[in-house]
Amino acid sequence: MSILVTGVAGFIGFHVAGRLMERGESVIGLDSLDDYYSVALKRARIKELRGRHGTRFHFNQTDFADTVALAEALDPLSFDRIVHLGAQPGVRYSIENPHAYARSNIVGHLNLLEVARQRDSAHFVYASSSSVYGGNETLPFKVEDRVDHPRSLYAATKKADELMSECYAHLYRLPLTGLRFFTVYGPWGRPDMAVWTFTKAILEGRPIDVFGEGDMRRDFTYIDDIVTGVLAALDNPPADDGASKAGGSRAPHRLYNIGNNKSEELSRLIGVIEAACGSQAEKRLLPMQPGDVRDTFADITAIERDLGFRPTTSIEEGVPRFVAWYREYYGI
Ligand code: NAD
Repeated sequence: MSILVTGVAGFIGFHVAGRLMERGESVIGLDSLDDYYSVALKRARIKELRGRHGTRFHFNQTDFADTVALAEALDPLSFDRIVHLGAQPGVRYSIENPHAYARSNIVGHLNLLEVARQRDSAHFVYASSSSVYGGNETLPFKVEDRVDHPRSLYAATKKADELMSECYAHLYRLPLTGLRFFTVYGPWGRPDMAVWTFTKAILEGRPIDVFGEGDMRRDFTYIDDIVTGVLAALDNPPADDGASKAGGSRAPHRLYNIGNNKSEELSRLIGVIEAACGSQAEKRLLPMQPGDVRDTFADITAIERDLGFRPTTSIEEGVPRFVAWYREYYGI
């Protein structure tokens, strides 16, 4: 039976779909190809998946926030599990365009939960975010911590997704797993994120904007580790046994952090990118941006205990792989 992967033209969806098909699964990929960033890059990812996996891959361009269009698109298709990675991402853009987040992340998430309920899906895995921890000051962040103080509407919509999911797990006994990803980077990455923007500017000889004066810390997680965590979660649906799950639910709903379990100073990341690019960055030190949090750091005890997941890629290994991919992709 196929697996439905939403956001398949996106950074993480592309890699998750690829790994699923490498191990022999068939994937129905859904994406609206929205223009939040380069549509050409999204199309290139789809082309790559088609080239590598042929008929194992079925792509459907649909907006999952459009309830009628989604029902029409999925009606003729069979799948028993859902990996819901499509969303409007980005903390800073949620200040400019809040409605995009309400639409894709709240209406869209509800639409996918409804699909799972109507089809009695065997497992629904979805993307949450480290941003739900907001301004929490106790590090590392644990899935048991309270997350009631978001710093951006993006974070608030991801927390809303977790709450809607909990409700569906309770009412309909639907097995659900929410994954709080921590700053993901790697080949085929996202052009709005720091590793990409710094690499691009350094290679073009332009200055880089360093927010938080360089002393923000992030738990940077390499894409291959994220994909390993997503598949480990997908393969182990939570039991409906009344026991307390990671994140505290007694319904079949778990929450896990997937991070590298290492909080790195932005200035150290820049040093690693400079080394991989072979040139120094000219830094413009700027204050933190509205919506940003100063530090992130994932406690991964829960996913390690339940699924045996541990990340294996340091930024010293992962960043040069990204820079090599970037140079090859753009021919520079
Ligand atoms: P991405 O933007 O590269 O991928 C998301 C994809 O979803 C895009 O291709 C977009 O076109 C699609 N999409 C958006 N709205 C849609 C809609 N209404 N209908 C159909 N498709 C739609 O982002 P990503 O980095 O791959 O993130 C994947 C998931 O992980 C998202 O839920 C994101 O919030 C979450 N996340 C990512 C990170 C990270 O560091 N990349 C960190 C935390 C959480």
